[in-house]
Amino acid sequence: MRPAVRKIAIERMQILIDNAITNAKTNPELSQRQAFLARRISTRHKIRMPYPLRMVFCKKCKSFIAPGINSRIRLGRASVKSIRISCHLCGHIYRKIIPQ
Ligand SMILES: [Zn+2]
Repeated sequence: MRPAVRKIAIERMQILIDNAITNAKTNPELSQRQAFLARRISTRHKIRMPYPLRMVFCKKCKSFIAPGINSRIRLGRASVKSIRISCHLCGHIYRKIIPQ
């Protein structure tokens, strides 16, 4: 695959996810659709989503979870910086260590 195609695909995913997060509160149906499209670009072009984009999908139920709306993000209080994301749809909680 040409690098330009990859770059455009990632940009499109980024825009779709940004819009999905923006619309999550006011228009949940549209936001789900935008998140679905972003994931389809990822699978169709076999491009892994950059981490900040993958973070808005629940690892368990694969739903789009908008930060602060369908999911809760908490900063860990331990010495190692980590975030905890809980999905409001299936209750799954996962942690992510933030690299320093
Ligand atoms: Zn879930």
